[in-house]
Amino acid sequence: MRARRSAVRRSFTFPLRPTRHQEIALAQCLEDHRQLYNAALEHRRTAYRVAGATVRYGEQSAELKHIRADDPEGQGRWSFSSQQATLRRLDKAFAAFFRRVKTGHKPGYPRFKGRGRFDTVTWQKDGDGCRWDSGPHHPTMTFVRLQGIGHVRVHQHRRVLGTVKTISVRRAGHRWFVVLSCDDVPAETLPPTGAMAGIDMGVASLTTTSDGDRLENRRHLAASAARLAVAQRELARAARGSRRHRKVAARLSALHAKVRRQRLDAAHKAALVLIRTYDVIVHEALEVTNMTRRATPQPDGHGGYLPNGAAAKSGLNRSILDAGWGVFLTILSHKAESAGRELIAVNPANTSRTCAPCGHRAKENRLTQAVFRCTACGHVAHADVNAATNILRAGLALRDAARAA
Ligand SMILES: [Zn+2]
Repeated sequence: MRARRSAVRRSFTFPLRPTRHQEIALAQCLEDHRQLYNAALEHRRTAYRVAGATVRYGEQSAELKHIRADDPEGQGRWSFSSQQATLRRLDKAFAAFFRRVKTGHKPGYPRFKGRGRFDTVTWQKDGDGCRWDSGPHHPTMTFVRLQGIGHVRVHQHRRVLGTVKTISVRRAGHRWFVVLSCDDVPAETLPPTGAMAGIDMGVASLTTTSDGDRLENRRHLAASAARLAVAQRELARAARGSRRHRKVAARLSALHAKVRRQRLDAAHKAALVLIRTYDVIVHEALEVTNMTRRATPQPDGHGGYLPNGAAAKSGLNRSILDAGWGVFLTILSHKAESAGRELIAVNPANTSRTCAPCGHRAKENRLTQAVFRCTACGHVAHADVNAATNILRAGLALRDAARAA
């Protein structure tokens, strides 16, 4: 068993309160980093197409010096470190691409970032082109200094713990945030409860535990997803460059921001309940291929919702609900680490079609999205609770095997 660490890494997010001037500079900073990203991508594509050559991060990073010298009023304004972070981000996108090619998937080639598709700039080290709490002598206000932008006011609504490692700035619609990634944050270990649970991640409820608790009904998220789909169709119909197009695009981006907030909020709430209640939590290992195993929700013919609360309309709805699982698991793992709880991931194959009491495995056991009825022993349960029970059992078996080894 791994030793419990007393310190963890975690991030803190605070709203920024830039002046009008700083807001313009922030937007320029993002735009220049976006263009750097796209130029570096173009460089890699051309090198590959023309010469079959692979360009690496080190090579592109070495060119930054010249790019900055040639454009002192543009790229030269920003921090070398944040530009390196942007090139690293591209490098990661390529690494993920090649990894998926190797495993026989058909991944999409890394794509150019359009306007509004590049919303984060990261400074790799506090003190290098950026400084957290740059005005520590101010009695009430907190500032972050960003190279080329200045001392920007921060709405710091809680204490920052540990040591600030990296600083990121993120745009969400019209709002700006600073994200601090901190090391050595003291863990707030919770007292043991003696309880264990498996959790099933679903469409109608974010999670269902093997104890039968359904956490975070997703009706609100599904409703936002439906509105998002409507706005997207509207945008597709509006003429590019028209006033209407701009208006719908603005509404769309506000809706996207709302979905992200709702998803985060729901994930935090559900994770908190689980962490407080259980010492050991077993969940499904999340892989894209697993997401299609669930019964596809059936449209009711009126563009409405199914009784299980899942929006029935489009693949977009599904993908929005599915994306929530990744966010949830990330938050859950951070909280688990911080609280000293044990988290186990298991392969979800067959957990939804196997009878928890008798082990009989058949597709026919799963009557509907919600109902499980075993064709061998007659056991009837909510399908998600049955799955969660199987997940718990698989997790405990894994754990026993690991201990025996
Ligand atoms: Zn059975």
